[in-house]
Amino acid sequence: MITILDQLPENILDVDATELYKFVDNHTLVHLAGQIKRPLFISILQHGDEATGWDAIKILIKQNINKLPRSLYILFGNVQAAKENLRQLEHQPDFNRCWPGIHKQHNDVAMKMSQITEFMANQNPFASVDIHNNTGRNPHYAGINSLKSEFINLASLFSDTIIHFTSPDGIQSGAFAKFCPSVTIECGMSGTADGIEQTLTFLENLIHQSTLESVPGFVEHRQVLNIFSTVKVKPDISIAIAGKETSPVNFVINNDLDYHNFHLLEVGTVFGQLDDESTEMPFIVTDQIGHDITDHYFEKRGKNICTKQKVVPAMITQSIRAIRLDCLCYLMHPAIQY
Ligand SMILES: [Zn+2]
Repeated sequence: MITILDQLPENILDVDATELYKFVDNHTLVHLAGQIKRPLFISILQHGDEATGWDAIKILIKQNINKLPRSLYILFGNVQAAKENLRQLEHQPDFNRCWPGIHKQHNDVAMKMSQITEFMANQNPFASVDIHNNTGRNPHYAGINSLKSEFINLASLFSDTIIHFTSPDGIQSGAFAKFCPSVTIECGMSGTADGIEQTLTFLENLIHQSTLESVPGFVEHRQVLNIFSTVKVKPDISIAIAGKETSPVNFVINNDLDYHNFHLLEVGTVFGQLDDESTEMPFIVTDQIGHDITDHYFEKRGKNICTKQKVVPAMITQSIRAIRLDCLCYLMHPAIQY
C-alpha cells in the first residue's frame, strides 16, 4: 500500500534533502489542500542526489502556508539515497525507469509506482511536474513526452528550451502523460541558486494558473528539440575523463565535453581518444526503438572518436558514475518552432 499523509510532518521544512529520511519513507505522498481542489502533482528526489526540487518546494510552501491557491500532491522519491547524496543505492533500481510503461516490471519499486499512478489518475491532476538535476553543464530545460499544446504550454512556463522524447521507458512523466499534462524539468546542477529560483517561479506560476490551454509568453521563442538516440559507453571499455586518469584506460573522454550540450556540432567534433587505433568503437548509439545506429553518428579517425553527422547533444555528463549507470548523452535533432 502507498503512504499518503494529509499534512507535512512537523519541522520537515527546516531540513535539507539529506535529512528527509527521518521524516518520510521512500514513495510517501503528501496531500496539501488548497483553494482550487484539482491538484498539482510534484515529484521530487526520484534521484537522491538531485535536491533542487526539495529546495524549491520548501520555499514554495513557506511562502504559501495555510493559503495554498491550489491543492498539491508531493511525492517524495528516494529519500534513502538522498541521505547518502547518491542517485540510487547499490541494490536499488533507477526509480525513474520503474513507472508503468511499455514493458511490465515486477520489482517492489515498480509495484509502488503503479499504485501511485493509479491513485493519482483518480485525483484528476491539473498537471504533473517531475523535478531533476543534471550532473553536467546544461541549460535549464523541460522535457515532454507529447506534443499536445497543453504539454508545450506547461513546459514553456519553465523554459524556452523544450525537448520531446519518447524513451526511456518507465519514466514518471510518460506514465502520467496518459491522464494529465506532464513535464520533467531539469534544473541544472543540484543545489545551484539559479535552478532553485527558476523552479520556484515555475511552481508559483503553476499553482496560480487556471488553465494550460493558453499561457502567457512569446510563442515564437518556443523551440522543441527532438531526442532520437542514446549514447552509451560499452561496459567492457574502461573510461576516464581527460586530466583525471588514475590508470591507463581504453578511452579518455574529453574534459569539458559537456560545454557542447544543446549546441549544434559540426561533423568531425572529437569526443575523446582511444588508447590504441585497434581498440573498438567505445560507444553504442541506439534509436528510440533500440536499433544500433552507432556507425551513422560516430567514427574512428586514428585514435579520435568523432561525430559523423551534424547533431545536437544533450545531458553530456562528466560523471563516470552517471555514465555507467545511465548514459554519456542523448542526441537530438535541431529545433522545430511551435
Ligand atoms: Zn534525475
